[in-house]
Amino acid sequence: MRTAVVIGGGIGGLATAVGLARRGWDVRVHEQSPAFEEVGAGISIWGNALRALDDLDLGDAVRAVGAAPGLGGFRDKRGRWIMRGTGDEVLMLHRADLLKILLAAVPTSALRPGERIDRFDPATTDLLIGADGARSAVRRAFWPDAPQPEYVGTTAWRMVLPSAGIPDFDACETWGDGIVFGAFPMGDRLYCYAGAPAPEGERTDELAELRRRFQGWAEPIPSILAAVDPAAVLRHDVYTQPPLDTFAKDNVVLVGDAAHAMAPYLGQGGCQALEDAASLAILADQDDLAAGLREYDRIRRPRAQLIVKRSLAVLKMVHTQSTAAAVVRNAGLRLIHPAIRRLRGTWRR
Ligand SMILES: Cc1cc2nc3c(=O)[nH]c(=O)nc-3n(C[C@H](O)[C@H](O)[C@H](O)COP(=O)(O)OP(=O)(O)OC[C@H]3O[C@@H](n4cnc5c(N)ncnc54)[C@H](O)[C@@H]3O)c2cc1C
Repeated sequence: MRTAVVIGGGIGGLATAVGLARRGWDVRVHEQSPAFEEVGAGISIWGNALRALDDLDLGDAVRAVGAAPGLGGFRDKRGRWIMRGTGDEVLMLHRADLLKILLAAVPTSALRPGERIDRFDPATTDLLIGADGARSAVRRAFWPDAPQPEYVGTTAWRMVLPSAGIPDFDACETWGDGIVFGAFPMGDRLYCYAGAPAPEGERTDELAELRRRFQGWAEPIPSILAAVDPAAVLRHDVYTQPPLDTFAKDNVVLVGDAAHAMAPYLGQGGCQALEDAASLAILADQDDLAAGLREYDRIRRPRAQLIVKRSLAVLKMVHTQSTAAAVVRNAGLRLIHPAIRRLRGTWRR
């Protein structure tokens, strides 16, 4: 029986463990936190990731808890539609629900919470998997010359709140003044996010800051910001990983943000981690493991790195402060959108 040691029990690490355990591997997942858990936010799971989840036999479980339609369109800050109806296949889920589904599919004996690992000996296992996020210790150990993730100049707020008392609305992103607000019904809750240019590391009264920045915007934004519990507002700066020259070295491999942390503007960071997991499970599970890992790098790296690049381009487009550029963006959105849909859709394992 082949063995795999997974460092990091987020979406990427757990999904990889599911794929390998299903193929009979003896898997261990080390997670530094005392429990396997995700931040209190939603996540968009697009068609490509649903197909990866189908490969892991988890697609139906995710469809059963996900809310659709995920994205009804894009509006301006006065509430006028820039583009309505995107035709995208996407579900909105609470992250805790996704993690619960992944966790239930990993043998309990494989789960090692409360174990931060900083020293690695790949000789003790067939496969060492770095799924330890954007600040990956595995990447630092085996890719010592790789650049660290870079701050892209914008920050993101996320919040989940009860939908009771908020006027009905279609799931949408609202754009204006170089900032963005997304609001998505998710069963009896709402998942919302906002993004804006900001200095790295800045922290303030986050809800007051959001109310200030989005003052006067169309409903449901004022109602949401009036109702949300300040403790539910999370803030994270946005980082992106400069391209690595490989995702696999000997029997060490990177998945998820450890390999390709990206701006969240295509909603693809977690989805790409799921693609990584489904591909790796198939490719590693062949007689010639080394050839399988080379194939993993050949297939996954160009796709994930292209999506990192495009996510950054969309971030710049969304946050443009120039009125002229915003007019061109809004007019061209219908033309750009099919290319974005094709990019998300073309997963090939
Ligand atoms: C604002 C925002 C919105 C987003 N929206 C979406 C979206 O809608 N759709 C989407 O697909 N993606 C989205 N993403 C991206 C997505 O959240 C990430 O790409 C995804 O969570 C990466 O998963 P991961 O498992 O690779 O890394 P992580 O989630 O970072 O997990 C890494 C795990 O490893 C553990 N760990 C770290 N170091 C060690 C160590 N040395 N030893 C043991 N354990 C360790 C950590 O505790 C953590 O649990 C968004 C991101 C942000 C910031």
